[in-house]
Amino acid sequence: MKEISRKHILVTGGAGFLGSHLCERLVAQGHDVLCVDNFYTGAKDNIAHLLDCANFELMRHDVTFPLYVEVDEIYNLACPASPIHYQHDPVQTTKTSVHGAINMLGLAKRVKAKIFQASTSEVYGDARVHPQTEDYWGHVNPIGPRSCYDEGKRCAETLFTDYRRQHGLEIRIARIFNTYGPRMHPADGRVVSNFVMQALSGEPLTVYGDGSQTRSFCYVDDMIDAFIRFMNLISSPDGPVNLGNPFEISMRQIAEQIVEITNSSSVIEYRPLPIDDPWHRQPDITRATKLLAWKPMTPLHEGLAKTVRYFAKMLRFPEETALGQRRPGLAPWPQDRP
Ligand code: NAD
Ligand code: UDP
Ligand code: UDP
Repeated sequence: MKEISRKHILVTGGAGFLGSHLCERLVAQGHDVLCVDNFYTGAKDNIAHLLDCANFELMRHDVTFPLYVEVDEIYNLACPASPIHYQHDPVQTTKTSVHGAINMLGLAKRVKAKIFQASTSEVYGDARVHPQTEDYWGHVNPIGPRSCYDEGKRCAETLFTDYRRQHGLEIRIARIFNTYGPRMHPADGRVVSNFVMQALSGEPLTVYGDGSQTRSFCYVDDMIDAFIRFMNLISSPDGPVNLGNPFEISMRQIAEQIVEITNSSSVIEYRPLPIDDPWHRQPDITRATKLLAWKPMTPLHEGLAKTVRYFAKMLRFPEETALGQRRPGLAPWPQDRP
């Protein structure tokens, strides 16, 4: 007989950056985890260490096609997340967001599973409200290069909300803000992976625009903590919840910090700002803090140091250059824990 606390959990996009960390955590908690992925941006390497676990199963499947399995909970993470990846095949990105959501919601409805949606701060677009609160409807271009992702994720939020209203589904919509850490794809073009790879290789760090645009970065372990707390809430909260680290930093500042952490000789080079690049981004996490009794705990410099060590290992840097030490005589790291 199945133990009450041991659940069958489906993670779509489970071989990706966030998905692989989530699978790892759920497997460690003793749940039966089914990881579904079409390896569009994810990699078997990310979950290779789980393949021998009796409570982990991997299935190659594209969520734009129906899926018939029996599960208690679904984390729907399948979707390319970096601008380079999601703009590579924009039609497929929208299909994954929308058809993928419909299929996973249909599955959740049939088996009466709780379902979590990995939404995004991109639903706020180039926000006119700062920091972004959940009641802000956003400022999104419906026909720009980012629209396949932004509008796809917005439509998915609509679908989740309507399946709740119409069919009584137990839903969780997380608006995830920029998250970083080990297992980011080294060539996904996101700012942290780009800068770390460039700094470790001694290449110039490519800052887009004048680097004064801001983001707020959350370390992956903190984010996974929030996902699981959110799923485990007794009932669906009213509407989406922002998840992220409110510590805001400009792209120029983070470039400088990464150069310093890696002791790199790289210089900073300025490149054109991509179209529709949001100017400022910072989550208001009041709601998450109250609902989940959660806040991010990893300071940026600590998370960056762990990320640097991961990429250094991938590049086969010798151990002694595994970094994260501050040169003597410099001021302390900024107080970046909320
Ligand atoms: P990722 O690209 O590493 O992971 C996405 C995974 O989904 C990959 O393994 C990919 O192969 C898989 N996938 C893509 N299309 C699929 C399909 N049609 N069928 C099955 N699998 C498919 O990205 P990530 O950073 O881990 O993001 C995971 C989720 O979190 C995404 O939904 C993304 O939109 C969301 N999110 C991430 C961030 C972030 O900063 N990392 C921020 C906001 C939202
Ligand atoms: N679906 C699925 N797995 C299931 C149940 C449904 O993939 O276990 C898909 C199915 O392909 C359907 C979609 O989910 O197109 C939406 O299902 P729903 O029951 O909400 O709608 P309907 O089948 O009536 O279109
Ligand atoms: N960015 C940058 N250099 C890079 C990659 C990105 O300056 O090599 C900037 C990008 O223009 C944006 C910010 O960093 O302002 C975050 O970009 P990312 O692609 O990581 O995420 P998103 O724009 O989706 O927040």
